[in-house]
Amino acid sequence: MRTGKIIDIKCKCGFLLFRYFKAGKGRLIKLMISRLSDDHVGLAGASTLSRPQCPNCGKELGIIMMIHGEPALKLNQGTIEGVRV
Ligand SMILES: [Zn+2]
Repeated sequence: MRTGKIIDIKCKCGFLLFRYFKAGKGRLIKLMISRLSDDHVGLAGASTLSRPQCPNCGKELGIIMMIHGEPALKLNQGTIEGVRV
């Protein structure tokens, strides 16, 4: 069974970007798009190597990559509010 919890991920501007099921501990480096529980940015269907932006302030959130055959957002650590787990 998978363990983990749902966390809120916010932009530095305070906008709630995602709610995400995070497995395990440690710093959040990437988001598997299939594990988003709320997606206020519209990552579903984003193409590989596209760079989604915060809908509120327009900052780049990171880059979409394929990780283990699944689309994921590699986070731009400068834009995302620090996540404590
Ligand atoms: Zn923002």
